[in-house]
Amino acid sequence: MLKFKLMIKALFFIFLLFLSFYIFHNHNKNFHTLKKSEFDVQIYKLSAKNRWIEYKKDSNLSSKRVNKQIKSVLRFKKSAKLYLNFSFIKKDINSSIEYILLKNNRQIDKFSLRANIKHQTQLSINRDDILEIGVTINKNSSYWGTLNSSFNPYFFNLHTILIIGLWIIFSLFLFYTNYGYLAFLSYAIFYMMIYVEILNFKSLNVEILLAYSFLLFAWTSFVLWIYQVFRKLKRFKISFFIVFSLLVLLTLVPILFMIYNFNFEHSLSKEALYAIFQSNSNEAFEYIEKFINWVYLLLFVGIYLLIGVIIYKHENVKSAKINSFFLCFLILTFSTLSYKNYQNFRLVNFIVDEFENYTKELELFYETQSKRKIGALKFKATKTSIGETYIVVIGESLNKNHMGIYGYLRDTTPYLSKMKKDKNLILSHNIYSNHTHTVPVLSLTLTQANQYNHKNYFDSLSIIEILNKAHIATYWLTNQNIYGEWDNMISVLATSAKKLIALNHTISCNVSTQQYDEALLKPLKEILSQKTSKNRVIFIHLMGSHSVYGSRYPKDKFSIFTQDLNPNVFGKSASINQELNRYDNTIVYNDYVVSSILKELQALKGVSTFLYLSDHADDIDRDLGHSKDRFTYEMTEIPFISWFSKAYIKKYPQKYHNFLNNKDKLFSNDMLYDTLIGLFNIETKEYNAKYDLSSKAYNLNPKDALVMHGKRHYTEGRNYIYWQKENIKYLKEHNLMDTVIPCNISTLGTIHQVVESGFTHYINKGKATLSLGDMAFKEKLSKHLKSEEKDKILLYYKSDFNP
Ligand SMILES: [Zn+2]
Repeated sequence: MLKFKLMIKALFFIFLLFLSFYIFHNHNKNFHTLKKSEFDVQIYKLSAKNRWIEYKKDSNLSSKRVNKQIKSVLRFKKSAKLYLNFSFIKKDINSSIEYILLKNNRQIDKFSLRANIKHQTQLSINRDDILEIGVTINKNSSYWGTLNSSFNPYFFNLHTILIIGLWIIFSLFLFYTNYGYLAFLSYAIFYMMIYVEILNFKSLNVEILLAYSFLLFAWTSFVLWIYQVFRKLKRFKISFFIVFSLLVLLTLVPILFMIYNFNFEHSLSKEALYAIFQSNSNEAFEYIEKFINWVYLLLFVGIYLLIGVIIYKHENVKSAKINSFFLCFLILTFSTLSYKNYQNFRLVNFIVDEFENYTKELELFYETQSKRKIGALKFKATKTSIGETYIVVIGESLNKNHMGIYGYLRDTTPYLSKMKKDKNLILSHNIYSNHTHTVPVLSLTLTQANQYNHKNYFDSLSIIEILNKAHIATYWLTNQNIYGEWDNMISVLATSAKKLIALNHTISCNVSTQQYDEALLKPLKEILSQKTSKNRVIFIHLMGSHSVYGSRYPKDKFSIFTQDLNPNVFGKSASINQELNRYDNTIVYNDYVVSSILKELQALKGVSTFLYLSDHADDIDRDLGHSKDRFTYEMTEIPFISWFSKAYIKKYPQKYHNFLNNKDKLFSNDMLYDTLIGLFNIETKEYNAKYDLSSKAYNLNPKDALVMHGKRHYTEGRNYIYWQKENIKYLKEHNLMDTVIPCNISTLGTIHQVVESGFTHYINKGKATLSLGDMAFKEKLSKHLKSEEKDKILLYYKSDFNP
């Protein structure tokens, strides 16, 4: 009877095994571009004497400028199905390109290709197969087209069956020794790991399955060994403790990936990892607190508890004795095998590799700065005049659409709005952030690298270096956490300033003990009160509106907005209620801090300039924060406010004039480096007037404007914010503000925006025919204007776009 039960269990297990492999098979979208690790390549060219000579050892298969005839010889390291797509789009080649493909010296394909025509060759590749691609170009051209490869290693093959076989043998052994539950448990962990691999990397191969199988076999054997040892000693609790902690250790990384994935509905990306490395522990904790759904965390704690109970309950089950030497042999064999396949644990490797990359970049940034400091790398920067003072305030997570001064319906900026009446306070409306995380943003904002010049931040000059070189006294005042020089690139940068004043050294998750931003006013006053003929640039890095919002302002004085939000005013945003209130309170407080800084500067006589901008914004209306993995254009909506002293305007009228001229042009904040050099009137070759807002040469064509470090075009269709502005401009220019009527304007908030935008009419109900945030708005509008129903053009004010 017992044997029968066992057999049923074993059969059920085998059924699960096949079922899960079938699931893996269906989810395995393994097509990927050939990776360097999957093949070797050697490129040859035909010499004048008609002999093949080595041309270049390079795995880049895309176009190369070479002579008329070349061949690449590829040797594969993996078996797979290979899809080779040949094409070339160059219109100036009238002639065709001849391709010939040989696999292991046998011709498998030959074709002639013309521009804009694609050719695909499919072939099966076994390990160590040699593929020769010969290319001949007719007539005078040095271009041989583009080759895209997709590579799909076979899934259900001998290897996969072998893995299933291994699991069957291993689990039968466990069933036989009455450790059947361990078979289920270790397979469940295996399944979870593979599931997370697919979830994150969308693909799978035999090596990965094998590596994880060996790992689980090793783990299970170790558990068995522990049981054997501690049974003799009768110390069940210790064995339980060891087994359970080992299990947590084993599953921690996959579980973290899984939580991230469920939570953000996005796989953990390289940039997200960077953002995590770059932020300090405090910020990371706040981030988790705000953006990780506690339900998921509790769910996983629940799963662990359940597994714990299962292990604990089965501890005393009567089971067969297993030879300890045999178990040691298993542990050793399986752990060696899994270690040999360690490169297939992509989840862990991904984190380790990116961390290494990140550290290398940071080291390089530091080293290059050190070299320049001792003069090993030379550059020049000079400034002729003296006694000038500049303040650059870098805000945090502030969305300009929540600032009263930028037209928000709540007066969140009473001080700055009052100061705006002073004619010299300049508001820019079309400046956006280059990324959505602090460090990536500032890595371009404060160095010569930007999205357009293809430089890397880590070997680029920083603005501080330029200023130091020009003998300008540099100050870095910060309320953001700096623990040491090596935190991230901002701390490297901050420590390169002549004087660093960091208020926030506390290594603690308790935010309430930290100081509010106004604490920076005291050191600022001290600096400004020092009599000096030196030029001074003071950078002030605020904590601003970073989450957790409630920790950013003194509760007693600045809890201005506390009432429940009225849906008639705030629409859908009303549901996030107190969070939005707290965010708005941070802005009121920020207004007090920023205006106080400005007042200090204004009290000073002489040439001075004040700039305030935020690193990036938060998408507060949807309560999305500023995570790159939930990117919306709202996250780039930063304020940019500037002020110039009368003496500055008198001394540099042209710069001031240009700045005024350019103030509403599209500008991504990665170009601030050049703008600062321009505004501070520093002479250096390490400057490009094209990126300088105070230069006549400044000119960014909207269609070239980039965001997310060049990964997106700012004017893409999804950016309804940009198109809404453009379309309103168009309506105004063509006197169409009365013809087109925004409809469904049902909340006070939207009415406010509609009026702010310059519309004279709006209606509550109606069926919209056009969307204001639509990229093709103008074309669609002109069709409507020609139609008979032109007096009924109704408009969605806000795009119905949802991230
Ligand atoms: Zn930030």
